[in-house]
Amino acid sequence: MDCIFCQIVAGNIPSETFYQDEQVIAFRDINPQAPVHILIIPKNHIAALTQLADSILIAHMVDVANQLARDKGIFESGYRLVINCGQEGGQLVPHLHMHLLGGRSLSGSLG
Ligand code: AMP
Repeated sequence: MDCIFCQIVAGNIPSETFYQDEQVIAFRDINPQAPVHILIIPKNHIAALTQLADSILIAHMVDVANQLARDKGIFESGYRLVINCGQEGGQLVPHLHMHLLGGRSLSGSLG
């Protein structure tokens, strides 16, 4: 198990966890790009969006992100959900993850 996010799921690498259930876990990004920067990941190893069997998991991750946005007080002010996929998509960690970013005014740039 050399996947860093699988190690977080297993509890072998510490994380500041905000939420978990049978399917997903959400924890603080180690290099936050905004006051709120949380990663929501499936507990099962899925390398990228390209490996996703169906979209039900993504719908659940969005539900979790919306609830975390409420918990963190950014639901009304606004926030951004990002999934990077593959090399040119800017994905650095090869375990599917959704970024929840908020708590400041984010630029309109998509990179
Ligand atoms: P991406 O470019 O979409 O693959 O983003 C990967 C994210 O994982 C980056 O924002 C990193 O800061 C974050 N990250 C890497 N290692 C850890 C870790 N051990 N705990 C929390 N976040 C991490």
